[in-house]
Amino acid sequence: MKTHLRFIRNASFILFSMISVLLTGCSESEEADEFVHVPYSEEFEYKVDAFADLEILRYRVPGFEKLSIEQKELLYYLMQAALEGRDIIYDQNGKYNLAVRHTLEGVYVYSQDRESSDFTALETYLKRVWASNGIHHHYGGDKFLPEFSKIWFEKQVRTVPLHKLPLKNGETVNDLLTKLEPVIFDPAFFPKKTNQETGVDLILTSAVNFYDGVTQAEAEAFYNTVKKPDDPQPIAYGLNSQLVKEDGYLVERVYKKDGMYGEAIRRIVFWLKKAEKVAENRKQKAVIEKLIEYYETGDLKKYDDYAILWVKDLNSHIDFVNGFTETYGDPLGIKGSWEALVNFKNIEATARTTTISKNALWFEENSPVDERFKKKKVKGVSAKVITATFLAGDCYPTTPIGINLPNSSWIRAAHGSKSVTIENIIDAYNMAAKGNGFFEEFAWSVEELDLLNTYYAMTNNLHTDLHECLGHGSGKLLDGVDQDALRSYGSVIEEARADLFGLYFIADKKMLKLNILPNEEAFKAEYYNYFMNGLMTQLMRIEPGKTIEEAHMRNRQLITRWVLEKSSKDNAVELKQHNGKTFVVINDYKQVRQYIGELLAEVQRIKSTGDYPAAQELVEKYAVQIDPVLHAEVLERYKKLNIAPYKGFVNPVYYPLYDEAGNFEDLYIDYEEDYVAQQLRYSREYSNVE
Ligand code: ZN
Repeated sequence: MKTHLRFIRNASFILFSMISVLLTGCSESEEADEFVHVPYSEEFEYKVDAFADLEILRYRVPGFEKLSIEQKELLYYLMQAALEGRDIIYDQNGKYNLAVRHTLEGVYVYSQDRESSDFTALETYLKRVWASNGIHHHYGGDKFLPEFSKIWFEKQVRTVPLHKLPLKNGETVNDLLTKLEPVIFDPAFFPKKTNQETGVDLILTSAVNFYDGVTQAEAEAFYNTVKKPDDPQPIAYGLNSQLVKEDGYLVERVYKKDGMYGEAIRRIVFWLKKAEKVAENRKQKAVIEKLIEYYETGDLKKYDDYAILWVKDLNSHIDFVNGFTETYGDPLGIKGSWEALVNFKNIEATARTTTISKNALWFEENSPVDERFKKKKVKGVSAKVITATFLAGDCYPTTPIGINLPNSSWIRAAHGSKSVTIENIIDAYNMAAKGNGFFEEFAWSVEELDLLNTYYAMTNNLHTDLHECLGHGSGKLLDGVDQDALRSYGSVIEEARADLFGLYFIADKKMLKLNILPNEEAFKAEYYNYFMNGLMTQLMRIEPGKTIEEAHMRNRQLITRWVLEKSSKDNAVELKQHNGKTFVVINDYKQVRQYIGELLAEVQRIKSTGDYPAAQELVEKYAVQIDPVLHAEVLERYKKLNIAPYKGFVNPVYYPLYDEAGNFEDLYIDYEEDYVAQQLRYSREYSNVE
């Protein structure tokens, strides 16, 4: 499962999947770690490129310098293994994608007509193809169309040297152009990457290449017969293959060393074998060995064995994902898209979540809820915070900010899962957002602006930690209360409970005692942003005339509207007008915290007693309806800021240094490469799929 940051501004938009692992024992210890959140240097240039609805960013790899030579060597091999799979995801996303990309790249490099508007349009289209690993939008899945003319394009393709064009099995340039014409120019030809509409054949109407010549009914029948219904430990049937019809029979073309994507997989295995030799420890070595076995055989039982070893490898500093993983791309949810992520543990940030978790009982005892609803024993969840060093496949160039794997439910139940937050990616989002005008537009005064610019990145991470590590795990149901008693309101109430828990304690002096926040001002950044978001700016995601449906958005509006109403007597929070615009003003942070405590107590009571009518009233009264005038105002102001709704990333470049005997000596990191250069280089050096 992946957590995506879907909109630029707020990491609080994150929809975190449940964190279910890495339980740490709770203890009373309160040793203060040194305050560690070092803000990044302002000099680093985060923005690399911008086109269509995307902005491409760099991300930093803080802590890279501190890695040992051995760790750098391991990282390097894992990153090479990640690169070798690049073309697989293009082919999985659609069978024409690689031909389209190679042809476009040929024109981009060899065209002599570089000043024309057609060429500019080709450049934009190619950048979009790179960003989506294909011709359909990476997020929405709709096909996007080029703005250059067909005639111009055909003329340019004819100027590309033949050996630079993807001509297969004696194809001529005419054949290639005929093949690609509807793919590139016809909006009706495979308009959707992954079709989810009901009533049509989802396989035949989806562009993804997981099935060929097979109908949805045939595929479903095929997988229903291979599955064993009573198997307590089912493998992920069909995860690593394409289902095709050969001589009238359905067969799986398995992704393995001597199967489909064999060339790419052999290259991946080549690097994994090098990585295995320099693994940090036995556990990690076993993980890599099992992954190699799986890639060589395509045996999904070995994949499960690998996943179990991987989920138990908690102490290695370096970690990675490399394989056919998430099934969102397949309309039937069976086939895994190839992805890779290489990372190392962010020890400082992980220490933060560990500190919080260790003190879980203190938080429970000091929370403002009724004693009857408190747990006597409580364990915090310590999520691992990681630093990404390399993104590839389905994680590149647009990337999740959190990952929770493996996906197999029986493995999760029996062995747990790893939940990671990719903090250097979140930081890149936050840093790039500075100066995009968002806070300047929506903050009431210079005072709030300073607060946000100084502390928000830090407090937002912390609020997420409190929400995930403590909030969801706190409190208990009274005996006999059905955990589904709140029915459709259950998830909003649950998210509100976790958010309120985080908001209540982020303003506690305990944060200073634990050295998690630097001073008594910092929490105000989280409060101000939370209210600005909940009362106003999150509405930019809602179309005019619609109401709020998504649980996290509902919970934010619930909390902020409730507190706003409470404040009508004392103006602790208010909405003020200035120059025809609406602003959130917080006059009394202490009082706001008081209200948050009151609401937390009430929401916990609703949850603990299963009070459905009270849940319904809270949600329907505060969380759903939108003031249409304020909504229109927010949309208008947001539109003027012209902020790209999606972000992608370039990877750093890593240069290995070998001594005269060919031994690995060091690894250098370089952030200079731009988006186009990186994509063209990857295409030149890592094209492994025919
Ligand atoms: Zn949550």
